[in-house]
Amino acid sequence: MARILIRLNENVVSEPLVSEVILENKVLFAILAAHINSKGGEIVLEVPDGEVEKIVSAFRQKGATVTIPKLIEVDTNRCFSCGSCVALCPVEAISVIEDLSIQFNKEKCVGSVCNICVDACPARAINSIRYSNTENTRNNHTHNKLREK
Ligand code: SF4
Ligand code: SF4
Repeated sequence: MARILIRLNENVVSEPLVSEVILENKVLFAILAAHINSKGGEIVLEVPDGEVEKIVSAFRQKGATVTIPKLIEVDTNRCFSCGSCVALCPVEAISVIEDLSIQFNKEKCVGSVCNICVDACPARAINSIRYSNTENTRNNHTHNKLREK
């Protein structure tokens, strides 16, 4: 699955663009996050691999701006399990597990749309990385301190 960020300006924000794109392209995708008001907004979608180009093109044709958010990568050599990032994450993608190490859930994280933990980490252990367009996969970075689900 690939995550894409849809930005809507005030000219199109009142239009049912998401519904139209789903119906016209017959592709189902998940809405991971949405922040919308009368002046515009942002929507983070999770789109099936292989359908990304079609969906991106469909939203652009309807006047939306589309980008692929950077993903989050943790440098486990730098992390010292301070826990600062845990409480700040708005989607509870980071947690403390039994051995008091930190667990990072890549399925919940919305990437560079948020970036709160990147800015908050005192050890600069969390970074944004570019999505792999060719593989449509994340950088699976697993170790004994910070683990991805
Ligand atoms: S960028 Fe960090 S704080 Fe934001 S959703 Fe992802 S893990 Fe949570
Ligand atoms: S990633 Fe950074 S903020 Fe989070 S526990 Fe490790 S050192 Fe602390």
